[in-house]
Amino acid sequence: MNSLLPIFMKLENQPCLVVGGGKIAHQKIRQLLESKANVTVKALDISEKIQSLSVTIQKSAYRKNDVKGYKLVIAATNDENINRKVYEDSQKNGIPVNVVDQPELCTFYMGSVFQDGDVKVAISTNGKCPSFGKFIRDHINNLSKGTWGNALEKLALQREKIINSISSYSQKQQIMEKLVNSTKNNFINKQVKRGKVYIVGAGPGDPELITVKGLRAIQQADIILHDALVHPHLVFEINHEAEKIFVGKREGKHSVSQKTIHSLLIEAANQGKQVVRLKGGDPFIFGRGAEEAEALAKAGIPFEVVAGVTAGIGAAAGFGIPLTSRNEAQSTTLITGHQCEKNGNHNWKALAELDSTLVFYMGVKNISKIVSGLTINGKSGSTPLAIVQNGTMVTQKIFISTLENVENEIKGITMKTPAVIIIGEVVNHHQRLQKYVDSIPADYVDPIGDFGFDIWKNEVVVA
Ligand code: SAH
Repeated sequence: MNSLLPIFMKLENQPCLVVGGGKIAHQKIRQLLESKANVTVKALDISEKIQSLSVTIQKSAYRKNDVKGYKLVIAATNDENINRKVYEDSQKNGIPVNVVDQPELCTFYMGSVFQDGDVKVAISTNGKCPSFGKFIRDHINNLSKGTWGNALEKLALQREKIINSISSYSQKQQIMEKLVNSTKNNFINKQVKRGKVYIVGAGPGDPELITVKGLRAIQQADIILHDALVHPHLVFEINHEAEKIFVGKREGKHSVSQKTIHSLLIEAANQGKQVVRLKGGDPFIFGRGAEEAEALAKAGIPFEVVAGVTAGIGAAAGFGIPLTSRNEAQSTTLITGHQCEKNGNHNWKALAELDSTLVFYMGVKNISKIVSGLTINGKSGSTPLAIVQNGTMVTQKIFISTLENVENEIKGITMKTPAVIIIGEVVNHHQRLQKYVDSIPADYVDPIGDFGFDIWKNEVVVA
């Protein structure tokens, strides 16, 4: 139980002593000066920063009973003997004393302080964990949003009028309570506007493939957390005011952890912000969008998932490949090629036998595993195969082959990433339609310039 008595002390023009002249002493002096105290600093070594403050400097060692005459004493030296002496002398003289970081040598603590105008809240953790006190202070700060100081000012004016015009104490009290309630409703209603996270699919590359809903979310966002495979036009050109944070994965480089992304989303939403989490393609297709949704739900944050055109579908459409087409494919299967090498746990037999167009994401590096997995299990070597690189971007390219030939044919060719591999008879449509398919990806920014799509190029983890 915290049995400390919270009091707010009047220190204006009162003599206070700080023993110590370093960084910590400086912090404490600043706090005392905010209370308008007359501060004397005593130490052999006193930093220039302290000397530039409006304090009395005494460059000398602490001597017995130097605390006499002061109303409050703080010791912030790194010498335990001096700290103890200051504490004992203060105790003897009945002066409140605080020895920094030594709770046993303190008769008072200075809490974390929230202040907005004349509203001041001090938090005590009973010396157990000052950082938690700071966390609570920041939380109060988020709640108040700078409205409490103003509210207090207005109430103070009204109170003055009421005091002057009404004599009955209980009547005054009643009116004041009513006023506080109505003011409270004013600013509480504003705060109730809770933040929300929009997990938005940006589409496969062409910025015009975003949904109207996704675009609107970006327009209204206070903050946008974006991935590597998102067109810069969507991040930078739609909403100039929003704060932008890149949280993409970078190959070989330190990248923001999933946990950090969750905390950033939660923190921003808790501050009442409209947050857009902008992800390539569709957020729930190989995008870890599900983990983000789980984390938000766990934190009690409202969110909306705005679907996007997933890369496989966008890339196929751009080259006239219908992923399901009567007589050729009854279904289409989206598969990660990323895991092939690690545990090879795909059910290759089932995939080979399925009457389905297979679309591999993140699969170029593992193409030989994909080919062998399928052909060993009976898929015909002559099955058409397409590798669509940079699908729906101005740099889009298609490479056509078959299951049995692809490995030989791509030797010596650099496949651009990101790329998807499409396997199935439907790929043949491309040859028939290619003369007439005239898809022109929108390109709002110079793809090679400093500010272009190329800025993401080296930041994609897997092909
Ligand atoms: N959520 C995304 C997929 C993320 S996984 C979506 O729904 O599209 C990343 C993989 O998607 C890449 O390795 C690549 O296989 C594929 N990809 C993303 N953008 C692509 C593009 N423009 N063209 C081809 N493949 C792409």
